[in-house]
Amino acid sequence: MKKYFSCPECGRKDISVQDMDKSVATVKCGSCGIERKVPKMSIADPVDVFGDFIDIVHSEKKPSKPKTQTFDDLVKNSGFLEF
Ligand SMILES: [Zn+2]
Repeated sequence: MKKYFSCPECGRKDISVQDMDKSVATVKCGSCGIERKVPKMSIADPVDVFGDFIDIVHSEKKPSKPKTQTFDDLVKNSGFLEF
């Protein structure tokens, strides 16, 4: 029996959770094709795996924090700047 969840990407209820018998489940959308591997607890429910999948997708969408480079970093990263 398969459960389908709403896709965070395309909005269709076409997300299925596969490989629930393995330590890493595969969550996949049949419509847009988005797919992520989700490490799961042995007793996890497809709903739990889907929740983790949502977290993963959302964290990917967040704009990455701009790296603030210190002068030390700049020196370290450019080998020719040794005094
Ligand atoms: Zn989708």
